Amino acid sequence: MTRLKWGMIGGGEGSQIGPAHRISASLDGHFQLTAAALDIDPERGKSYAVQLGVAEDRAYGNWQEMLAGERDRPDRLDLVTIATPNATHFEISRAFLEAGFHVLCEKPLTMTADEAEQIVAITSETGRICAVNYGYSGYPLVRQMRAMVAEGELGRIRLIKAEFAHGFHADAEEADNPRIRWRYDPEQAGTSAVFADAGIHAFHMACFVAGQTPTELSADFASMVGDRQLEDDAMINIRLSDGALCRLWTSAIAVGRMHGLTLQVFGEKGGLSWQQQHPEQLHWTPLNGRTQILERGDAALSPQAVRASRIPIGHAEGMPVAFANIYHDLAEVLRAKKLGSAADPLALDYPTALDGLWSMRAIEAAAKSAKSGGAWVGM
Ligand code: NAD
Repeated sequence: MTRLKWGMIGGGEGSQIGPAHRISASLDGHFQLTAAALDIDPERGKSYAVQLGVAEDRAYGNWQEMLAGERDRPDRLDLVTIATPNATHFEISRAFLEAGFHVLCEKPLTMTADEAEQIVAITSETGRICAVNYGYSGYPLVRQMRAMVAEGELGRIRLIKAEFAHGFHADAEEADNPRIRWRYDPEQAGTSAVFADAGIHAFHMACFVAGQTPTELSADFASMVGDRQLEDDAMINIRLSDGALCRLWTSAIAVGRMHGLTLQVFGEKGGLSWQQQHPEQLHWTPLNGRTQILERGDAALSPQAVRASRIPIGHAEGMPVAFANIYHDLAEVLRAKKLGSAADPLALDYPTALDGLWSMRAIEAAAKSAKSGGAWVGM
């Protein structure tokens, strides 16, 4: 399989979402990070790109240099991911789409609906793809919900309860932290903070699962911490095209809520409930019936859910990341050996042949014990 050439703008060292993009783009081996302008600080961005394996001549100080350097290359990038702060998405997406690149842009796509309309128009004119990273729609059981709704298993959808509430912007002492401050600055974040930042995932998921588009909404925005100009809590009612009503709560001040993205869908023939913090199980209650738990990885799920489920049933979605930690440890130790230096002691917890030996002894002892009526066997 030839790897697709992948470019990245933003998502530099220490960013929140950059590592998630790099892990997910490399998970199946489809994409190779080939060119990048990763950071608002040009030198830091270039050196981190080289550290990540990008050739020096394709590690750029900013996106304009990257566009100039990449647009006429014969070995063109297949996809460019934009993971910069919101206010830059429109300008960068437009420039790369107009230059003929396919784009995966972080949400929100732009700062205004007018800008988003321009992006949609450019994609229609050029035939370029502009995907938007509503990444939670990739969960197998979210796809299962959508498939069940589309198949009519819930009947007409009456009500959707969508939430994305966390408590990480609740500390007034932290309000000036630059990583938090830009999200409440209208210059950088636009007309909305927590709805644009977090609640928009719940909004997208509600529409995605219902298979309906929004027609009108009514919102109550509140700013509860310090002198924030934008909302840190919102309650929104949304009417959807086939008559469903979505009630959406989003908050950044819900202390104790971690990453509370949840969706409940209530139709005339049954209800579904899913929580992103427990993504392996979907609760399905047929009208007047008992609640059933649908497990990710079950071959009897919809083809959409089966396609999205690449890990065996019962193995949590994070399993490949746990495996990646073993490789992460080994890489540290192997590099240290090459350099003749001491490895980070935190990297020394990977299982070794000694663990393999204890396992084999345990298996043999267990078999022996089982044969002798559960007698104690020394190891
Ligand atoms: P962040 O502040 O942690 O990181 C932003 C990164 O972009 C930094 O490395 C910064 O140096 C770099 N950067 C800033 N301006 C740049 C520019 N002009 N050119 C190149 N690099 C630049 O922000 P974050 O939390 O990672 O958020 C980035 C984007 O991702 C936001 O739009 C946010 O809404 C989105 N996001 C999406 C999800 C999701 O689930 N899809 C989750 C978190 C964040």
